[in-house]
Amino acid sequence: MDPLAGWTLWSVGRCPYPEQVTQTQRQPSIVERLSEPHSGPVPFSVEFFPPRDEAAEERLWRAVRVFERMHPAFVSMTYGAGGSTRDRTARITGQLERETTLLPVAHLTAVNHSVDELRAMVGTYADQGISNILALRGDPPGDPLGDWHRHPQGVAYAEDLVRLVRDLGDFHVGVASFPEGHHRSPDLEHDTRQLVAKLRAGAEYSITQMFFDVEFYLRLRDRLVAADPEQGAKPLIPGIMPVTSLATVRRMVELSGASIPADVERRLVHAAGDGPEEDRQAVRAVGIDLATEMSQRLIAEGVPSLHFCSMNFAKATSEVLERLGMDVLVA
Ligand SMILES: Cc1cc2nc3c(=O)[nH]c(=O)nc-3n(C[C@H](O)[C@H](O)[C@H](O)COP(=O)(O)OP(=O)(O)OC[C@H]3O[C@@H](n4cnc5c(N)ncnc54)[C@H](O)[C@@H]3O)c2cc1C
Repeated sequence: MDPLAGWTLWSVGRCPYPEQVTQTQRQPSIVERLSEPHSGPVPFSVEFFPPRDEAAEERLWRAVRVFERMHPAFVSMTYGAGGSTRDRTARITGQLERETTLLPVAHLTAVNHSVDELRAMVGTYADQGISNILALRGDPPGDPLGDWHRHPQGVAYAEDLVRLVRDLGDFHVGVASFPEGHHRSPDLEHDTRQLVAKLRAGAEYSITQMFFDVEFYLRLRDRLVAADPEQGAKPLIPGIMPVTSLATVRRMVELSGASIPADVERRLVHAAGDGPEEDRQAVRAVGIDLATEMSQRLIAEGVPSLHFCSMNFAKATSEVLERLGMDVLVA
């Protein structure tokens, strides 16, 4: 079957650069979904990324089918820098909407896009039945920590993208938040102000960057509530990465500007051993312990839900959920 069958590209379709987008259906919003009854202490959600090839796509779908039976509140699909990756994000997010019982959220970044192209992309999502969008600035392609230059006809910040998406129709928008502060923010106060600005622009919730010290999350929550109680009441969803490889998590942390606390690093390094290759089984076991401990503390601290970076695998996240008593599989 042609995976693109029924897929209307706004950029070549009836209305290339819409001022308003026609939405044939409206998904429940994430805020609505989080308030629905759920099994376990809090709802959970899962992040996927667009697979690079057919084998990776098959793996993703296997994970999707496992998660589907565990009833996540929503799943999200990241948005890459390149054209083909972007096409895959749109196609697979649409398939998740049509072919599964999951509620997909599509990420969208401002990287290398003019305003017209961003509008067209939102139109493409609307054509797929998607009305939940995570609005992000994105990182400079090639060097995520490098200098950011907006597209000459594009937007500068995620805040502008939130407005753009909201102006296009009845979309539900989320944004990113950074427990340790975004790596380009001069200080945490500036960082908090920009998050408040995104929420005031119409974002309904935020999902945090992964972190390995719950205190970072709690301090961000405090700063947010102090800066603006109304915006601080919106869901601040913690992003959790069950670590399965020391090398991978070190790279991810380096690229995102986050940090691994010394005690966490010590546990992971000890598990990795001093052989030529890290002991993946031992690292994985510690990674699952860490994610479980963090999740337990976050639940005790009253988080609205937990968002897991799955790396397109179901197993590690399922094990954490099982330990949290949130692994209710439904036939
Ligand atoms: C949950 C989550 C999901 C993500 N998904 C993706 C993805 O799918 N694809 C991808 O490429 N990347 C993704 N990212 C990474 C993200 O795009 C980068 O971290 C990016 O550097 C910041 O994006 P943002 O939306 O927070 O940007 P912004 O909110 O625009 O902030 C970027 C920087 O600009 C500053 N800033 C914002 N507004 C102003 C202003 N008006 N004046 C001065 N400074 C300002 C902020 O303080 C910050 O330092 C994700 C991150 C998270 C946490």
